[in-house]
Amino acid sequence: MMKLKDEEKKYLENSIRTVLDFPKKGIVFRDITTLLNDKKALSFLLEHLSKYYENANLDFVVGIESRGFIFASMLCAKLKLPFVPIRKPNKLPFETFFEEYDLEYGKDRIEIHKDAFLGKKDAKILLVDDLIATGGTALAAYKLIQKTGANCVEACFLINLKDLSGAKKLQEFTSVYSILEF
Ligand code: AMP
Repeated sequence: MMKLKDEEKKYLENSIRTVLDFPKKGIVFRDITTLLNDKKALSFLLEHLSKYYENANLDFVVGIESRGFIFASMLCAKLKLPFVPIRKPNKLPFETFFEEYDLEYGKDRIEIHKDAFLGKKDAKILLVDDLIATGGTALAAYKLIQKTGANCVEACFLINLKDLSGAKKLQEFTSVYSILEF
């Protein structure tokens, strides 16, 4: 499992747009649409991720709605693995497990289908999202996967906002790979 060299990281980093004060004042928003729109950066990222995980013996890749869906499903296509969505409330039609987590104001909730991993006990799961900030979303996603009886063996993020310490917190539960740190 080869991590990227500094110049390779720089290349990806330069393809991500930074937007100040979005969605509200004081937030430095990392906009991945510019990476998705750059065919060289996107194929480089996917080549890297597929090599990184090709021998990991994964059974499923889980994406968190909605930007996590993009990277997770592209990776599934490369690795020929099945995809499982973790969704916002009341979107999944069949029986679900849910987890709630704290936001700055109030609570949020995410859900997974109870049979998402086809009852495969200890299925090896890779969790994918575009970015980890406080880690609230990813930790709730980790707990959802564990509730189904499967095993989240690693969580992968394109970007880790390291001052917010989410990745550090998540590492107490599972292995974490983040490609870029801001
Ligand atoms: P958190 O639960 O705090 O780790 O937030 C992670 C989720 O919020 C991810 O799904 C990100 O897509 C989104 N997010 C949080 N902060 C940012 C940011 N500065 N730029 C872009 N997306 C963000």
